[in-house]
Amino acid sequence: MSLLYLHIPYCKRICSYCDFYRTAALQSLPATLVRMREEMLRRRDFLVDRHIRTVYFGGGTPSLVAPEELQRLVDMADTLWDCGRLEEVTVEANPDDVTRDYVAALRRTAVDRVSLGIQSFDDGVLRLMNRRHSAAEAADAVKRLQDAGYENMSIDLIFGIDGFGGRVLDDSLQRAIELGVTHISAYHLTIEPRTLFARRVAEGKMREVDEQTSEREFRRVHEVLTGAGYEHYEVSNYALPGCRARHNSAYWTGEAYIGIGPGAHSFDGDRLRCRCSSTAEEYSQGRTEYQSETLSTGEQFDEYVMVSLRRAEGIDIDYVERRFGGGHAEKMLAAARRWQQSGDLVAEDGRLRIPPERFLISDAVIESLFE
Ligand code: SF4
Repeated sequence: MSLLYLHIPYCKRICSYCDFYRTAALQSLPATLVRMREEMLRRRDFLVDRHIRTVYFGGGTPSLVAPEELQRLVDMADTLWDCGRLEEVTVEANPDDVTRDYVAALRRTAVDRVSLGIQSFDDGVLRLMNRRHSAAEAADAVKRLQDAGYENMSIDLIFGIDGFGGRVLDDSLQRAIELGVTHISAYHLTIEPRTLFARRVAEGKMREVDEQTSEREFRRVHEVLTGAGYEHYEVSNYALPGCRARHNSAYWTGEAYIGIGPGAHSFDGDRLRCRCSSTAEEYSQGRTEYQSETLSTGEQFDEYVMVSLRRAEGIDIDYVERRFGGGHAEKMLAAARRWQQSGDLVAEDGRLRIPPERFLISDAVIESLFE
């Protein structure tokens, strides 16, 4: 089975922390949507397994696109691949795009899950991040979607912001729980080069949080959300029972996906990975270029170790033996021993996993198990 990712790298306003590829030059968006349908047609044979299981509209801000246009893309996919048994169709949305009319129109499409970029329920944090919405608008957007039947909803929250931990973080988590959202992606802020935040840090107007604060806040998010019944199933992802993100989970288990749109990544489910390297402007004019790489067995192994140890299930030792050979499994288990003694790795039921509350400090563990 395969996945379809549709990338809309357009935003009305640029957030202070964002280093994703995106553009605020919205004038090329209509032409890009046309080119995306062309790209699907052109690259339809990229997927060997033509059964599409999930569709994901990511960005950027896909909610800048009218729901009817999103549906046209799904309809186009349905003519090229088998979309008869879709398990999940997600759209990322900005709270201020989620008007009553937008939600009503969205309900008439195949979209059955919304991922809202809320980031915080604190107006001070939202202003600092240059987000387009207020905390009240975020809560209203959640309720509007729930009232329309979008029970299956994810929200993004960011922590690790200097001066906004403690009560501010607790209040945001509490608000998310009270609203009954079924899935929460909680990310630690990273100050990326060439962002407004990086400039503020360089000018001494803002600080990165120190390591202890990072760990404390990570553990606090873990405690509060797991205490409220959410399963911490991936380093940055929490879900109520039965509400894990199917599309993202399939990335982590190595399923094939095709990414359509400027900047989108694709993976053939085996060794080939590629990315559309054209800018949105170039893409909208029909100028598409791709960068591709073929993974060696060692790279495939390292990737499997990395994504598996970031998930609650961890590494399947039998699978490592079958896919990469007994030598890989033996070396990996030998390297794992010292982490088992320190409690950073747990071996049980044929699996090797990191306890979720230790996910944040897992980099050293993961790297020591690499090829
Ligand atoms: S909405 Fe998302 S992609 Fe757009 S600028 Fe903000 S963080 Fe970046």
